Amino acid sequence: MATATEKRDSRAARPAKSTARHGSPAARRLRRTAANGADTAAVYEQIWTAITDHSLPPETRLVEGRLCEIFGLGRARLRQVLQRLAHERVVTLMPNRGATVSRPSVREAREVFAARQVLEAGTVAGFIGSATRADCKRLHEHVAREQAAWRQGDRRASLKSSGEFHLIIAEIAGNQILVDMLRDLVSRSSLIIAVYQAPGARCCPPDEHRELALALERRESRAVGLMVRHLDQVRADLRLEEGLEKSIDLRSVFSNGRRAL
Ligand SMILES: [Zn+2]
Repeated sequence: MATATEKRDSRAARPAKSTARHGSPAARRLRRTAANGADTAAVYEQIWTAITDHSLPPETRLVEGRLCEIFGLGRARLRQVLQRLAHERVVTLMPNRGATVSRPSVREAREVFAARQVLEAGTVAGFIGSATRADCKRLHEHVAREQAAWRQGDRRASLKSSGEFHLIIAEIAGNQILVDMLRDLVSRSSLIIAVYQAPGARCCPPDEHRELALALERRESRAVGLMVRHLDQVRADLRLEEGLEKSIDLRSVFSNGRRAL
């Protein structure tokens, strides 16, 4: 989200184009904005990864002052990162309490997967009715990328691409309203999986995605049942129980691979 200052800067930068002065204040401001943007993106990645790999469990307080110190980031920039994470429901911002890692409730987790079963029975049926050979090829290629991400141990890419598999089916089925609804449910599922799945477990088993892709390519109606059971299995693999809150040392979480601050 652009701050008011950045909006003013981008307006101020437009007339500077015609004069093309490399050292103009507008150009310097733009370069500075770009550099700061890279910082916030890197910090966003580190916090997201720490949440999804369980280093930062649900309800961990993300103390602003501490994070600013650890990442060498100004408070306004750090807030941009936290706002982005909050928009994605990964972080909860509360007045007077600051930011904490979100904890989707067990009930929410069950309801999200139940809603997905209803919705995705429909998208699978839609896919069978409208997919072309090129669409089936796209789905198979995606499954191959998912398996590669898993083999490389890239948990974030793995989680992201398992969600995309479901969205591709919905896109090909062709109902944009269902695509938008599923996008929201997949985003919520990613956090639910990240916080409730046993460390090291797979997000969506790639073998089940491959079996689904084959049934869809053959236009088999059993694909609907396969999808419903697949979502049942993903939910069943979650440890849907309340965890114990423990004290987390933010500096130790972010110290790996970073120079001592
Ligand atoms: Zn899946």
